[in-house]
Amino acid sequence: MNDVSSATPVAPARRGLARRKFAPTLLAALGAAGAVGTASTQAQAQQQDMSEVVIETIELEDDLFVLFGRGGNIGLSVGEDGAFLIDDQFAPLTEKILAAVAATTDEPVRWVLNTHWHGDHTGGNENLGKAGAMIVAHENVYRRMNPAEFGELAGRSSQAPPAALPVVSFDHSIHFHWNGRHIQVAHIPTAHTDGDAIVHFPRANVFHMGDTFFNGRYPFVDVDSGGDIDGVIAAANFVLEGSDADTRIIPGHGPLASPEDLRAYRDMLETVRLRVAGLAAAGQTEDETVAARPTEDLDATWGSNPERFVRAVYRGVERR
Ligand SMILES: [Zn+2]
Repeated sequence: MNDVSSATPVAPARRGLARRKFAPTLLAALGAAGAVGTASTQAQAQQQDMSEVVIETIELEDDLFVLFGRGGNIGLSVGEDGAFLIDDQFAPLTEKILAAVAATTDEPVRWVLNTHWHGDHTGGNENLGKAGAMIVAHENVYRRMNPAEFGELAGRSSQAPPAALPVVSFDHSIHFHWNGRHIQVAHIPTAHTDGDAIVHFPRANVFHMGDTFFNGRYPFVDVDSGGDIDGVIAAANFVLEGSDADTRIIPGHGPLASPEDLRAYRDMLETVRLRVAGLAAAGQTEDETVAARPTEDLDATWGSNPERFVRAVYRGVERR
């Protein structure tokens, strides 16, 4: 799912003079036919033609960017240490994403941080891992991408190829000191999934929230992967507490956001949660709660298909 920002994309100034040494290595890794992927990512590519996808780059600072394409929005820090990527969309887009990275830096991608396991955020892992990037994610992302070893956590995921798996995983938080920045990554338990990471660039006053934030629409809460509405609300509050009026927030989907956008989203989440909890407490079943249309007055603003959201909220509050 993509939703290209209404903000005006800018062409970032290319730094350095030489072509990136990285490119030929990557092209070799990709093979003569171009982008390759696993059986599952190839199946995704067949379902979704990526040939028309354009990667748009928006500059947040002169060495910090957000890339919009198809799938989860990408964060990008560049500098003398190398490119640091947050999520990598789909395998067939790797070459286009790397071209967008190369427009900002001559350095290769050294790190890929996955905000969670979903294929529209990790689909480029195998290509980038083979090209030498170190992949980092929460421990539950590693487990969900590796059901051969952790079948009880598999959810809807399938086995990822070895090169796509994280080589570093963390439980609660991890900090990078990279490109002259402190990049702070925090795990929010049971939110969009059970492996969500929120990334904070304190000096730039920028957050990347992964899919704990769908800007302008009802979120997908992946209950089958350990997601829960209360964790999504907690994620929004976590970022709002660390924000001021100038904070910029990269959502997993939707355009670049302000704290005001996030506050409106958080308020909507709390409203729907309260209503659904009230219906559940009154003995309504999940189907009856959907039929009661608890989001009717909100749908014009937040989306035309609220049923999936209401069902996910119900499954969360029902467990309380
Ligand atoms: Zn997701």
